[in-house]
Order: sequence, then C-alpha cells, then structure tokens
Amino acid sequence: MKIIRLLPLVPFLATLSVHAHPGHGLGEHGAAHVMTSPYHLALLAGTGLALWFGGRFVQSQLPRRILQSAGVGAVLAAAAIWGSHL
Ligand SMILES: [Zn+2]
Repeated sequence: MKIIRLLPLVPFLATLSVHAHPGHGLGEHGAAHVMTSPYHLALLAGTGLALWFGGRFVQSQLPRRILQSAGVGAVLAAAAIWGSHL
C-alpha cells in the first residue's frame, strides 16, 4: 500500500477535528466536556466509522486491519463513554 493513497483522508479528518464542536476548539473546555458532550462523542463515532470505511479501500492487509481496528475502537469507545452517562 502506498501511504499517498490515504492523503484524501487528511483534509476530512482535519476538518472533523477543527469543527469538533461549533464555537470552540477541541481542547478549549477540558477533557470532562469532551467526554460528556454528545457532539464530541458523535464525532468520535463518526471518525471511527470513517476510518473503518476508509480501511475497506486499502489493499494491504496490515494497514487495512490497523485502520479498521482503530475505527471499531473509536466507535466502541464512544458507545462505552455514552453508556456510562445513562
Ligand atoms: Zn464541545
């Protein structure tokens, strides 16, 4: 796999982090806000889905597994954090 093929994902992921929550930066209000805000948790889950989906287009097995595992991990983390608040 050529890493250059992942370059189209960079602006997408950068845009996600910049616009994590309209009106403020990701680290502006501290970790507690990030862990309790549905916007940030939805963003984490969405990023995980994007990683998993993007991994489907990677030909090499190891990078594909890494991307998809990171994606699944992000979705599971978002679900676990969200579930801990219910
Ligand atoms: Zn926020």
